[in-house]
Amino acid sequence: MGNVSGADVPQSKQLAALRALFALQEKDLAIDRLESEAESLPEELLAVKNQVEALEERLAELLERKRELEREYQRHSLDIEDLSAKEKQAEEEQKKAQTAREQTQYENRIQQIKDRIRELLELSTPIMEAMEEVEAEVARVEAELNQLRPKLEELLKANEARVRALKEEAQALLAERAVMAQGIPTSLLKEYEAIRRARRGTGIVRMVRQGQIFRCEGCNVVLPTHVAQKVVQAQVVRCPSCGRLLLKEE
Ligand SMILES: [Zn+2]
Repeated sequence: MGNVSGADVPQSKQLAALRALFALQEKDLAIDRLESEAESLPEELLAVKNQVEALEERLAELLERKRELEREYQRHSLDIEDLSAKEKQAEEEQKKAQTAREQTQYENRIQQIKDRIRELLELSTPIMEAMEEVEAEVARVEAELNQLRPKLEELLKANEARVRALKEEAQALLAERAVMAQGIPTSLLKEYEAIRRARRGTGIVRMVRQGQIFRCEGCNVVLPTHVAQKVVQAQVVRCPSCGRLLLKEE
């Protein structure tokens, strides 16, 4: 007998434990599959979700653009109000003007203000047009969102039901696994679980024979004879390359 762990345990018992562990791993892998299936979103849901997110992003951009235009429009309106007040004041002062020269000065001033007001009004027109365009686009995007959101809700609900069913299935497998685990020595189970975590999947693999050589089924490396021998003797041995526990091929 070898000198690694399990040396005192009868070979048949040790082999039975390793086989039980291998069977338990099948359960673990099935549970893994169910969990990853539960996590991945169905294609249609993903498509609609992406569509809704893209539209929401577009809507946010449009609303920001609308606010910018409103601010710009507001600025022009205030400038026009301010200029109109100045125009009125200049007209009042013109009435009190004493000389023809003063009169002309006021006239020029009033004309300047009028020109500036006209300029600002001209600048306001494209802003208003842009605002109308943005508002129309907002309405279009909102209509599209209103159509898609119930669809998304429906798909999300269906997905919740799907996930619930998968989780229930996984729960049933976990219960079965717990029963199986009772038949396996704790230290062996712990070692397997640690390897599985590190290797993201399998913790125990078969050693396969190819003519005169033995390979690890996990990483395909050719195993040294002394390792292969221990595996044949049903000792707890790990692949020197990938570190997984090895089980003699049936
Ligand atoms: Zn290996």
